[in-house]
Amino acid sequence: MSHLRFRVVEEAFKRKAVEVPLLKERPSEYFGKYVFNKEKMRRYLSKQTYEALVSTMENGSPLQREIAESIASGMKQWAMELGVTHYTHWFQPLTGGTAEKHDAFIEYDGKGGLLEEFSGKLLIQQEPDASSFPNGGIRNTFEARGYSAWDPTSPAFVVGSTLCIPTIFISYTGEALDFKTPLLKAIHAVDKAATDVCKFFDPNVSKVTSFLGWEQEYFLVDESLWSARPDLMLTGRTLMGHESAKNQQLEDHYFGAIPARVEAFMRELEIESLKLGIPCKTRHNEVAPNQFELAPIFEETNLANDHNLLLMSVMKKLARKHNFRVLLHEKPFKGVNGSGKHNNWSLGTNTGVNLLSPGKSSHENLQFVTFLVNIMMAVYKRNGLLKAAISSATNAHRLGANEAPPAIISVFLGRQLTEVLDKLESSSSDEAIQVDDKVGMKLSVTQIPELLLDNTDRNRTSPFAFTGNRFEFRAVGSSDNCAAAMIVLNTAVAHQLKEFKKDIDARLEQGVKLEKAIFEVLRDYIRICKPIRFDGNGYSEEWRQEAAKRGLDCERNVPVIFDNYLTFENISMFETMGVLNHVELHARNEVNWETYTKKIQIEARVLGDLAMNHIIPVASRYQGLLLDNVCKVKQLFDQEKTEIIAKQDMILIEKISHHLSVITEKVDQMINARKVANKIEDERSKAIAYHDTIAPLMEEIRYHIDKLELIVDDEMWTLPKYRELLFIR
Ligand code: ADP
Ligand code: MG
Repeated sequence: MSHLRFRVVEEAFKRKAVEVPLLKERPSEYFGKYVFNKEKMRRYLSKQTYEALVSTMENGSPLQREIAESIASGMKQWAMELGVTHYTHWFQPLTGGTAEKHDAFIEYDGKGGLLEEFSGKLLIQQEPDASSFPNGGIRNTFEARGYSAWDPTSPAFVVGSTLCIPTIFISYTGEALDFKTPLLKAIHAVDKAATDVCKFFDPNVSKVTSFLGWEQEYFLVDESLWSARPDLMLTGRTLMGHESAKNQQLEDHYFGAIPARVEAFMRELEIESLKLGIPCKTRHNEVAPNQFELAPIFEETNLANDHNLLLMSVMKKLARKHNFRVLLHEKPFKGVNGSGKHNNWSLGTNTGVNLLSPGKSSHENLQFVTFLVNIMMAVYKRNGLLKAAISSATNAHRLGANEAPPAIISVFLGRQLTEVLDKLESSSSDEAIQVDDKVGMKLSVTQIPELLLDNTDRNRTSPFAFTGNRFEFRAVGSSDNCAAAMIVLNTAVAHQLKEFKKDIDARLEQGVKLEKAIFEVLRDYIRICKPIRFDGNGYSEEWRQEAAKRGLDCERNVPVIFDNYLTFENISMFETMGVLNHVELHARNEVNWETYTKKIQIEARVLGDLAMNHIIPVASRYQGLLLDNVCKVKQLFDQEKTEIIAKQDMILIEKISHHLSVITEKVDQMINARKVANKIEDERSKAIAYHDTIAPLMEEIRYHIDKLELIVDDEMWTLPKYRELLFIR
């Protein structure tokens, strides 16, 4: 019997690692080979053009038209030497992922032939007919114009035969239709606000940079097995499948030896990524079988985010070459860990100080504590909004489940920092304000550098943890564009730092000395934001109850969580910081709700189809066999004997028929629930209906399908099982 499942399992089993030839060059030699970085700029641009471009990249000064012309021509020359024939504006629509539309360099030369042309105009701005990108009603399709405009702070790069130019994407009327535009604005806002606060400590600070180091988790599945699972193909996750008897109980996969096929894939992925300027550093197995992680060295946030998006697309492409499919979904398999994308985040000054790293002197430590406390205040005030930033239909399967950050945002500090803050809070002001480098602060804040070297009490259950010299936002989903989280975090911190400066300035005006003012304000803040601090087990039920008492956002319904974007305080924050206006925020939430609905709608359809076309036919065929068996027994034996001999079969027949009837009934209910929900015009209400009525039915249907999987003859089951998907490499 060789139906599809057995064929693909056999194929997957026999597969060997794809050869990846060892490179003679060292990584330092091919790093950035396909990037129009400073080295290439120097080579392909005139001195004057180079300097103008660097000044734009570093200080944001506007680019002159003529300069753009000569950049474009230098870029074209470089790209054509690599065999490039096309260019594209590469942007980040609200659907997630990236979008590109390729155009050839060719133009008519006016003499009946062609020439290769790439003008400054085409470099700087384009008007893709992008009417089908989600825009939340900002653009009417009859004036579908959206502009993409070059972001010179992220360098152009070459993929295959195409020159990719990172761009923002905005509507005809100027509203952001992408992630990059507000991200750049948020980065600018936090630069300004943090620089102002740094000036209290060091007048030489003129720029603060936001840094992001993401850790990308993912699953790999053999391509043949994947192709025999329509749910994986169409939704990125398994909508059914009973847990494998062995999954991650033994914790033998985490940091274990990397299988040969996977190692080959990772090696090629790293080489290709390094060539694209992505500084890949760490790779390892993750907790779940077939789950892995890749992390680069951290970079400036905008660049780091472009690199993450680029990496995700390179991964997808290369995985296929290695006969894998990469799963970026947050929860492809029930019962084993899901995938996240930890966002390590910090702020650094142009004077080389990491503002989240405890310093050597008490003066530096006061600055460190100032930023630490302000960040906690920001996370406290915007905990609901931060949750909205990482919420999605797919990440919901991971959040709140037992292995991931729960759907409540709290901050982990660790014992030592907690002690420092407790002391600071309870000390009387006179004692506290003695800042003397030799004696040290009375708060023993000077002790922080030594103390923090012992960084052992890391709490894996915290969604937002301090890890020695940075915060790690762990609730971000593996498929997310990090920008969503980074926009909110940087804006919230910028807004809070601005408030802090106001509070300090008010005291300075009353003649209070600077240090005293800082201590006073920090002491207030520490008290106010205390509810956000939580170092205990974030997965426990007690925490849920405690968090609710503390007034933290405990909402678990994703469409409702999105409401956080539209509260008065949050709209006002985004508007005063110049990041997003109310029109944009409303539009983006329309997209959030619509995307939520569509994801569940697609899943529900796929599940319905699979239930009716795969599961029910197979289970009833097996039931038929059992029935035949019982009939034969009946022909040979009397009633009493039949009942003994055919007992097991009869029990199974009843079980199967119970599951079959529930599945049929629930699939019907699910179809009807969709019909009702689809009639709802309002996107928010529709998403809530999908959450409340359709998603729970999917769970119920799955439950009965998974039970059938345990009963039905393995030979007859058509869909590859978890033990095959997860354990064959
Ligand atoms: P872990 O899994 O133990 O958290 P990893 O080594 O996998 O650690 O990832 C740590 C990530 O944090 C890397 O991407 C690293 O570049 C990043 N990182 C380190 N220091 C900083 C910093 N100051 N700011 C931002 N990111 C940082
Ligand atoms: Mg980490």
